[in-house]
Amino acid sequence: MRNFDYKKNDLYCESVAIKDIAKKVGTPFYVYSYKSFTDSYTELAKAFKSIKPLICYSTKANSNIAVLTALVKKGSGLDIVSGGELYRALKAGVKPNKIVYAGVGKTDEEIKFAIQKGILLFNVESAAEVVAINRVATKLKKKASISIRVNPDVSANTHDYITTGKKESKFGIDMDTARALFLDKNRYPYVNMCGIHVHIGSQITTGEPFVRAFRKVMIFVTNLENQGIKIKFLNLGGGLGITYDNEKPQTAAEYASKILPLIKSKKFKVIFEPGRFIAGNAGAFVTQVLYTKKTEAKNFIIVDGAMNDLIRPSLYEAYHDVKPVMKNIKLKSIKSDIVGPICETGDFFAKDRRVPDFQDKDLLAIMSAGAYGFTMASNYNTRPRVCEVMVKGNQFEVIRKRETIEDLVRGEKIPSFLK
Ligand SMILES: *Cc1c(COP(=O)(O)O)cnc(C)c1O
Repeated sequence: MRNFDYKKNDLYCESVAIKDIAKKVGTPFYVYSYKSFTDSYTELAKAFKSIKPLICYSTKANSNIAVLTALVKKGSGLDIVSGGELYRALKAGVKPNKIVYAGVGKTDEEIKFAIQKGILLFNVESAAEVVAINRVATKLKKKASISIRVNPDVSANTHDYITTGKKESKFGIDMDTARALFLDKNRYPYVNMCGIHVHIGSQITTGEPFVRAFRKVMIFVTNLENQGIKIKFLNLGGGLGITYDNEKPQTAAEYASKILPLIKSKKFKVIFEPGRFIAGNAGAFVTQVLYTKKTEAKNFIIVDGAMNDLIRPSLYEAYHDVKPVMKNIKLKSIKSDIVGPICETGDFFAKDRRVPDFQDKDLLAIMSAGAYGFTMASNYNTRPRVCEVMVKGNQFEVIRKRETIEDLVRGEKIPSFLK
């Protein structure tokens, strides 16, 4: 993880010792490197600079308004999947004409909000959604531009839960239905059907699934063009994988070298929607050891963070590296489970992992937690969501304060018939 390195025995984020952040904000917390977000964005932009794509960072990976603002200031657009994310995106100051909006279940209210704000494109996931957008746009007397999200029916060689481009998945529209929609586009006078969108899944570490999918899409587009349909936008989605353990994912430049030859004959405005690639290795989750427990069968390190804070290990059996925030060379290494306080056997960060024989109060960093970490947090077990901190150089600031128990019960009420 770039920008998360040891200086002597202390783990730093950029030029700030993580133990100093812990002293200031308590544990657990998320810590993000500003430079990691912006460097990954720039790396992708550079790799594709010959076609000047619109890069729309995928908000759902890490939607803190500070993170969005950092990327927007570098020129990024935003990919959103809800009215809530649209609200955040606008708070971060993104121009509406750099927003693309995906998701299989957009409500009329969300569609209305997005049309009124003038977003660039809806990424449409069903024929029924085209009807809905046309209906809402007609009422508003304002045309809406859309891309059709096609489902290319390719496997992404990734975890089943993050595969989205197989025909059994709920996402996108099969190519025959998509073609019929384009040929019928005059039936939707308030819809400007002008783009194709494809997103086949997440944490894809090789170019091959992308190439298979985009080849299919290019044939599809060429056929449409031969039938007189003009395609202005080609949105190739996100999905670029990162290193969690010992994966060797393609670099942005390698990805570009595979993808550019497929699309360069056409004059589309190309859009990308990277999430994990930008945010994943820009953040760590820091937690403190509460107790250690050695049983006949296992060693357990019980920490103050839990699955409600970072659910990826429980949900996808995802691997996250665990590092001591302060190295103690005197500790021998042992095989341990690292678990949280939640009343679920699935509440773990690591299983049978060789780690230092951590002691009470030691600080651990769960690495590569910048994407799908805080954004998937919940309040299960009435646990307040943790605070988030951003580091830039030798400065750090809290970018979301820790919730309180009062925050959690606000809005709850004992009904009059129980009084
Ligand atoms: C989640 C999502 C992305 C981002 O995926 P990553 O794997 O994080 O890059 C991009 N596009 C759409 C439509 C998504 O749903």
